[in-house]
Amino acid sequence: MEQLVVSRLVYGLNIKIMRSNGVVHSASITSINQDRSSVHVEWKEADTGKAKEVSFIDVATMNPELLEASYDPPSVKENMPPQGIMASQNQKRKTLSRIPAPKEALRGRSTRMTAIPETLPADNEMEVEMSQIAVQPIPNPGVRTRSTKLSSIGEHRLLPRVTESADDSTSNTKNGQARRKSNIVKEMEKMKSKREEKRAQNTQLRTKRVQDYDTSVPNWEFGKMIKEFRATLDCQRLSMTDLGEEHRICVCIRKRPLNKQELGKKEIDIISIPSKSVVLVHEPKLKVDLTKYLENQAFRFDYSFDESASNDIVYRFSARPLVQSVFEGAKATCFAYGQTGSGKTHTMGGDFLGKSQNVTKGIYAFASRDVFLLLSQPRYKDLDLQVFATFFEIYNGKVFDLLNKKAKLRVLEDAKQQVQVVGLVENEVTCEEDVFKMIEIGSACRTSGQTFANSSSSRSHACLQIILRRKGKLHGKFSLVDLAGNERGADTASADRITRMEGAEINRSLLALKECIRALGQNKAHTPFRESKLTQILRDSFIGENSRTCMIAMLSPGFNSCEYTLNTLRYADRVKELSPHSTEPADNQQMEMENEDESQSSLGESECQDNLSLKDEELSSHMNSFQAAMSRIGELEEKTVEELRDVVQKGPEWSNLLQMTEQPDYDMESFVTRAEHLLQESSKVLIAFSESVSSLREAMQTEEQASKQICKKMKPNK
Ligand code: ADP
Ligand code: MG
Repeated sequence: MEQLVVSRLVYGLNIKIMRSNGVVHSASITSINQDRSSVHVEWKEADTGKAKEVSFIDVATMNPELLEASYDPPSVKENMPPQGIMASQNQKRKTLSRIPAPKEALRGRSTRMTAIPETLPADNEMEVEMSQIAVQPIPNPGVRTRSTKLSSIGEHRLLPRVTESADDSTSNTKNGQARRKSNIVKEMEKMKSKREEKRAQNTQLRTKRVQDYDTSVPNWEFGKMIKEFRATLDCQRLSMTDLGEEHRICVCIRKRPLNKQELGKKEIDIISIPSKSVVLVHEPKLKVDLTKYLENQAFRFDYSFDESASNDIVYRFSARPLVQSVFEGAKATCFAYGQTGSGKTHTMGGDFLGKSQNVTKGIYAFASRDVFLLLSQPRYKDLDLQVFATFFEIYNGKVFDLLNKKAKLRVLEDAKQQVQVVGLVENEVTCEEDVFKMIEIGSACRTSGQTFANSSSSRSHACLQIILRRKGKLHGKFSLVDLAGNERGADTASADRITRMEGAEINRSLLALKECIRALGQNKAHTPFRESKLTQILRDSFIGENSRTCMIAMLSPGFNSCEYTLNTLRYADRVKELSPHSTEPADNQQMEMENEDESQSSLGESECQDNLSLKDEELSSHMNSFQAAMSRIGELEEKTVEELRDVVQKGPEWSNLLQMTEQPDYDMESFVTRAEHLLQESSKVLIAFSESVSSLREAMQTEEQASKQICKKMKPNK
């Protein structure tokens, strides 16, 4: 039989090895483990030492020169390796399903790990278990035997080959032996060629498995690495029958499928959802020497939904548990967060069938359906609750009524910090269909008059509120918010002022929202709700024992969205820093907390900085003054408009004064007194207005300068 001559395997010998991805290269033997019929080899890869264990079978497969050239009938004493074993090719091997890749990947709430393509963990830790191996016949002096006996690996050491007896000299015996020999040789050759055929097929299959990747795809190397990584994952997704948990703050992630444009561009999908609470981002990276590798980052949340999840299942675990709490008197909120195009409106408003949205299949609709379902239940029937709905949009810090032709609304705060949206239409609804109609009207109003290129809907927050009232008094409230797409800091500084202002406002409100939810989660006394209109309006939902919230962070899975994706995940991670040991993660793998994220986006710090090199202090300082100017512009604009309102209100008084003089017998004394008074009042109003206007001008100039500086600083990086 074809044999691997183990004695030729010596320390330092260079042999060829094949990696699980089909790459063949040479490696040096550092030890020989005869018990397990394997050698330990080492090699260098991009200045890093790598090692693995290779079974004798694989050594023999890849290094045929180490095999005996041909089968020699068993009489050759010289073929006996002095102390070696002879591992036959029909050894069986079993690969244990101990695949380390996902285990490593899941370690850490937000853990980074590096997987270089050629060092798939599965390759390194593959365990080969030798079962029984065929060995040569055990010597039995005087008896000619060709029987093959199976011996366990532990026993077969130093097993000599069959020896021919010394008196074996008769021609008959010789002829017979020669015939037998030639038959055996033929048989063996047949077996050998079959074996080689099979081996070649296997090698081809293995190579094909990893190389079977469309190399016309941009960044296909990353795609291939991700594919290999995924092959090691045993994904377990959430199902409708899984039990949900009660969370005061629930943070979920939803990954949408690659869309038509992304598929058209053959973008690779860089997100994996290995279990119902873990999200993995395979971040494509380049080393200094341009070697491509993946930095796999793991995040954990209350729930994670993969691309196959329906709106129904997302609702089941995210918003549904909050509906009942609203009947118990809670103020609940549910937010859809994510970059533009990641699926927020799809999730909240309903699936799109082409351009038309199926409003009965979104979280708005499911929540309304459940509200009316609960309303009819005996335990809530007696409460005599009435249901109302409002639908409004917050764009650039201003509120518009989506159920009243986008009428601009004022937000006022009374002495008790009660926030009121003056004039917001609250429609009574008596069945779910009533709400569906409102979603339709509001959604159409939201997107009307927009071109794709100038879509303000993606830059505004839309909020549908379902309000329960008991004898007119507020009982519970559910606010469902389709948030504006999160922006990258770098984008905020570019383009025209309106775009910059929108971006800055979005950043500010999303930061404020994050801090308000965090304050709720930590039962903090102070809630920074005044930082934005959104949080101001939702203030009562962030305070008090009875407030509950849920955030669904949406991910676009494409390669080109990686930066956004990581920003989204970091944001969601900060909203609720899940204690790594709060829940036993799936498959008993412990999550370890890493503190590296702690430095990022701490309280009040601008998210914009996430995307910038923090080393560049100059840029960072421009960013800060840009942010400060933007926030000042926001405040001043509001103040200026209010003052203009006062100025305009004086208008009729001037008219009245004029009318007074038109009377034939008007009293000049009282005319002068009224004129003096009006002048005094009006000049106060005008001076205040004029001061605000010049402050606004100043803030706009500062903002413009800062934004120019930022753009200048960022240009070389573009
Ligand atoms: P956003 O509101 O975040 O800007 P959209 O909800 O408008 O994004 O989604 C952008 C596109 O992606 C839409 O065409 C939508 O139909 C599609 N989409 C989003 N999420 C999914 C999903 N889970 N499954 C299928 N298509 C989706
Ligand atoms: Mg949208």
